[in-house]
Amino acid sequence: MWKNPVDDLYGEIVLDHYHKPRNRGSLKNPSVSAEMANVFCGDEVKLELTIEGDRITAARFLGQGCSISLASASMLTEAVTGLNLEQVEALAETFKGMMNGSVQVDAKKLGDLEALQGVRRFPARVKCAKLAWVALETALERYRKAGT
Ligand code: ZN
Repeated sequence: MWKNPVDDLYGEIVLDHYHKPRNRGSLKNPSVSAEMANVFCGDEVKLELTIEGDRITAARFLGQGCSISLASASMLTEAVTGLNLEQVEALAETFKGMMNGSVQVDAKKLGDLEALQGVRRFPARVKCAKLAWVALETALERYRKAGT
């Protein structure tokens, strides 16, 4: 059967997050937030985090754009909630490495995020997948600066 490459790009898990985004919305008193835009396809993602101690206890996102950017943001909020900042940074590194192709993916570590691996074959869309993660890094940087 002929398989449309777009079926891989928009895999089942990706589509599920796109149609039923997790943690979409705003937090009342986020510890930190960051917005990122991807001019290439008009994606915008705003990420809000509540950080207690050194742990992310809540994450929300708002955004508009292509399914990849929004599915990735949805997955991100699920993946980082409950992690401490060190774990979040390690996860962000692993994710970036997966998208660059420099890291052997451990599906157990990445969960749903592993589904975004297929995006790698569409280099123009890698930015879409990374958008929320860039917002995450920006947010963590701001949080660290505010704390010192
Ligand atoms: Zn996009």
